[in-house]
Amino acid sequence: MAKLPRQHKPPRVPARKQHRGAPQRPSAHRRGYGRRWWRLRAVVLAQRPFCELCGAPAKDVHHRVPLREGGENTLENLQALCHSCHSRITARGG
Ligand SMILES: [Zn+2]
Repeated sequence: MAKLPRQHKPPRVPARKQHRGAPQRPSAHRRGYGRRWWRLRAVVLAQRPFCELCGAPAKDVHHRVPLREGGENTLENLQALCHSCHSRITARGG
């Protein structure tokens, strides 16, 4: 009796996978990045149009002390950065 090849079905991949690395991260709004943040961010970029680290045109606003660590949305706690400097800093965990 010849053995039939076993039919192997790959496991079904769930249609909606959760974002990798951010399992239970609340929404941007809940983390304190609501409408007020966007206004404040525009103020910072208008006052400091260049990256404070490399001098390139600033595109991002960085919290020196992150909101989740008790930092505040104040001009003193914010830093205008270009996107690459911001990515470098946030990749380091700041
Ligand atoms: Zn920069």
